[in-house]
Amino acid sequence: MLFTELKLIKPILDALQKEGYERPTPIQEQSVPSILEGKDLLGTAQTGTGKTAAFAIPILQNLHQKNIRNNQIKALILTPTRELAIQIEESFKAYGANLPLRTLAIFGGVKQGAQENALKRGVDILVATPGRLLDFISQGIISLKNLEIFVLDEADRMLDMGFVHDVKRVVKLLPQKRQTLFFSATFPKEIQELANSMLTNPVKVSV
Ligand code: AMP
Repeated sequence: MLFTELKLIKPILDALQKEGYERPTPIQEQSVPSILEGKDLLGTAQTGTGKTAAFAIPILQNLHQKNIRNNQIKALILTPTRELAIQIEESFKAYGANLPLRTLAIFGGVKQGAQENALKRGVDILVATPGRLLDFISQGIISLKNLEIFVLDEADRMLDMGFVHDVKRVVKLLPQKRQTLFFSATFPKEIQELANSMLTNPVKVSV
């Protein structure tokens, strides 16, 4: 299969071509159509499978087609580490290079000033580690009331790193009516329960 068969808009196809991508990876082929349709998704996939593009491409397309210019966060990607947050931000920026959507990564271990200034300029897609996100929310700098799409990335690593409580706190602050995409490489009981608690009739994808 080619990317041109996935019903993607030209600005995204052009960006993918510029990245040198010709064919979707299996996780992309299986996930993109369902995410474009607005369905919840439960994905079993490791890093290196093309998982990031599998959610970033349809999120960019859906947000662009809705054309809501409200300066509010409409997609949140929660990820366990600063390195992953930066990689995911770069992916959104690359695939969305021809779209007027703004992506920002926030994470701990650095002063919050630069991240705070960027947030105040307006962000459509926020990539965050849990602790820094909760910090900004408690300071009233971030509101998630207009959120449409929530991605939990590497859920099993969140558990290993002791972030599950923070993740649950974030989920409680999200609108009930939203699309949720849940990714994990492994599904121990606690991760299955977490997935069940936040997904509605998810499409299941495994690579
Ligand atoms: P990820 O699993 O999201 O960390 O992606 C792994 C690597 O594969 C990244 O360096 C991506 O840039 C690259 N990649 C993702 N999708 C494709 C694709 N369809 N064709 C070529 N490279 C890709």
